Amino acid sequence: METITIIVPCFNEQEVLEHFYSKVSESISEVKNCRFSFLFINDGSTDDTLAVLRQLASKNDNVSYIGLSRNFGKEAAMLAGLDYADGDAVIIMDADLQHPPQLIPEMVDWWHKGYDDVCTRRTNRTDESWFKRNMVNLFYRVMGVFSKHKLQRDVGDFRLLDRRCVAAMCLLRESQRFTKGLYTWVGYKKKEIPFTVQPRAAGKSTWSYIQLFNLAIEGLTSFSTAPLRMTTLLGIGVSVLALTYMCFVFFNALCYGDPVAGYPTLMTVLLFLGGVQLLSLGIIGEYLGRVFAESKGRPPYLVDELNGDKVIYDNTGNTFSRAVRKKRPTPCDNGKEHEGQE
Ligand code: UDP
Ligand code: MG
Repeated sequence: METITIIVPCFNEQEVLEHFYSKVSESISEVKNCRFSFLFINDGSTDDTLAVLRQLASKNDNVSYIGLSRNFGKEAAMLAGLDYADGDAVIIMDADLQHPPQLIPEMVDWWHKGYDDVCTRRTNRTDESWFKRNMVNLFYRVMGVFSKHKLQRDVGDFRLLDRRCVAAMCLLRESQRFTKGLYTWVGYKKKEIPFTVQPRAAGKSTWSYIQLFNLAIEGLTSFSTAPLRMTTLLGIGVSVLALTYMCFVFFNALCYGDPVAGYPTLMTVLLFLGGVQLLSLGIIGEYLGRVFAESKGRPPYLVDELNGDKVIYDNTGNTFSRAVRKKRPTPCDNGKEHEGQE
């Protein structure tokens, strides 16, 4: 029988998890000849998400969970899910029920028809503010112009991936991840199906405008070097203009003895050039920062707990699970133990 793992990244989702589990269980019961399991990833939640997950796992055989050692962000949490999922296919879903589970049977159908990546395209953005909608539009437009790999518009992380896609995604270990772009990069046979984003079942979204802006910059810089080329072109353009203007000023002074004047022009040009230089430096800095981050070769996430077992890493990056971690005795404990034995 085919197996499908449902990967659910969770950050402060304590209120919604039980409801999520029962809603999704209802939908998957309609799918015959497939065995489903859940893999929740607790992304360093500060509420009781982990405790709720422990309880869910103890009550249901088809639930497992990973606890990351801190909040690494949704992108890293999804990678952890892909690394640990063992199904013939995986379905990635948000925990807040904004992704309708009723779509799962249809997604599985398309997978059975031979598609490797069954992704869902959102048809509404009414839950978002006017500003966010326009920023998203602008982002897709900029990416369309700059990136070699065409991003799928309005297509997010709610998707079914065949094992082959999962294996390919796991090969991409960059720690600054833009997963939406990576799905496109790995390729394989894709099928888009439309869906309507539901309101959040409980809790609140944790994406701030700053985080979304950072993700947009991440997308642009990890899939295109066009901004760097544009700075070169801008530099050439400005230099040619400056040279032409210099010749004009020089000959004007030589032929007509024009006295040096024009403080405002001078200031404008100076400030403009200063601005262009800072902008160019900033763009170079963005790329350099990413090279710096990747050159450290840090793992994209660390697992703290795997289904109740504490995880320990060796220096090759392999993990071992330990059910009970020995408590390091404090001097005070020592004394007590000693007293007890005597
Ligand atoms: N999430 C996560 N780590 C984070 C932020 C979010 O794992 O640092 C999870 C969150 O629990 C949810 C999903 O990512 O399951 C989408 O988050 P959210 O609903 O806040 O984003 P939105 O739907 O507003 O894009
Ligand atoms: Mg959400």
